[in-house]
Amino acid sequence: MSFAASVLTLYPEMFPGALGLSLAGRALEAGTWSLDAIQIRDFATDRHRTVDDTPAGGGAGMVMRADVLAKAIDHASPEGDVRPRLLMSPRGKPLNQARVRELAAGPGAVILCGRFEGVDQRLIEARALEEISIGDFILSGGEPAALVLLDAVVRLLPGVMGNAVSGEEESFENGLLEHPHYTRPQEFEGREIPEVLISGNHKKIAAWRREQSERLTKERRPDLLALQPLPK
Ligand code: SAH
Repeated sequence: MSFAASVLTLYPEMFPGALGLSLAGRALEAGTWSLDAIQIRDFATDRHRTVDDTPAGGGAGMVMRADVLAKAIDHASPEGDVRPRLLMSPRGKPLNQARVRELAAGPGAVILCGRFEGVDQRLIEARALEEISIGDFILSGGEPAALVLLDAVVRLLPGVMGNAVSGEEESFENGLLEHPHYTRPQEFEGREIPEVLISGNHKKIAAWRREQSERLTKERRPDLLALQPLPK
């Protein structure tokens, strides 16, 4: 079963974009996942194909219209479509690896990309959109956020990553940041690879990596440690 993504956007040319290359691109060609980029403007009904209007209550910018977006969503995700409907939004729940894993285990996603000041609140409620943020900053549109989300999901699909183990040892998978990496040459500008990593002692190496992982997490992301007790 492959993962089916439908993306609603005013800029379908942005897709697959970076996801047409490398691992995601090969998986797309292989049919491990599919991507349908749908032009929201095609669902506008007036002569000028208007998708936005001025904000009720006044203020700067424009708001995407609920009626046009509803038509686009109902086309992309008709009744019976069990895929989650996501809205990329800085007000959403921050995306994390746990949600990425859930999405990757499912049938796909319908992803709405906002533009301008955002979308009419009634649309979010009427179509039960799950708002997802990719971080505490403002993008000019939801498209790069959708690409980020899909990149994170696609690499977890069965067969996409060459070495399946590497996915499980990464940052966040065990609630910690990952340990640092080294590779040849043995010496670089006077800096050596840590002794233990060339010792061949796998137990010691695992302990060192674990230590580094905990140290980095404490230093950089104490919030992650607060989320859960350290796994044993
Ligand atoms: N006025 C809004 C920002 C609109 S930015 C506010 O202050 O909350 C325009 C669009 O970009 C949004 O509708 C959303 O789809 C997308 N976007 C911007 N920042 C984002 C983020 N951090 N995560 C996900 N989507 C984002």
